[in-house]
Amino acid sequence: MPLSADERTLLERNLLQVQARIASACERAGRAPRDVRLVAVTKYVSAEIAAEIASLGQIDLGESRPQQIWEKQPILASDPRLAAQPIRWHMIGPLQRNKIRRTLPLVDLLHSGESLKLLESLDEEAAKAGLTSHVLLEVNLSGDTTKHGFRADELPALLPQLTALTHLRIDGLMTMAALEGTLDDAQRLFAQLRAVRDKLREQSAGALELPELSMGMSDDFERAILEGATLVRVGSALVEGLGA
Ligand SMILES: *Cc1c(COP(=O)(O)O)cnc(C)c1O
Repeated sequence: MPLSADERTLLERNLLQVQARIASACERAGRAPRDVRLVAVTKYVSAEIAAEIASLGQIDLGESRPQQIWEKQPILASDPRLAAQPIRWHMIGPLQRNKIRRTLPLVDLLHSGESLKLLESLDEEAAKAGLTSHVLLEVNLSGDTTKHGFRADELPALLPQLTALTHLRIDGLMTMAALEGTLDDAQRLFAQLRAVRDKLREQSAGALELPELSMGMSDDFERAILEGATLVRVGSALVEGLGA
């Protein structure tokens, strides 16, 4: 269904609002806005709405289910409005190993590198496809056992295996705050992720630079920016007010 003029206006206003929140958090943090990339999470909306968001210049899009990328990617790729600026797809949720082959070529950055096993499978598939794939290590800092990811304390010992994955570029770390925590809890966790990154970078003795920190969602991304986030993953704030 084509979007109404009201829906378009709403999406544009939401995007401007999120951009303004990012700019103001950057100012408070003494950081340049260009150092923080907004990933618009489109998992709640149709391909048509995702295309509309992208047509506003917001070309980094994130999905938490591979099937959603499979469905939306070809639709957006054939949208004439987006021909000049190809979409960068971010995979932000669990990727089952049997879905790697189809998903990997479509994705610019996989945020959810949650286990060595998964990364080894990704490396293998990237090699077969002749690709170098960009990934982040997902770190579970909230202690929530239902969440995916590495424990921070297991990462140093895994450095030899991680740096042996020659078809992957490990660009940084990703985390999710606990759902039930306060904003201060979330901020402490984001500070922890940065500390884990700094330490791991040092321990890797130059093998890993880890420039990217993917942290912060609609409710807490300002706190993440204060702690050094370079990628914020924002969904609901962008589609708020849109009739589902
Ligand atoms: C859904 C989702 C987001 C976006 O969350 P909002 O609260 O809607 O902004 C961010 N990261 C991940 C991993 C998600 O699954």
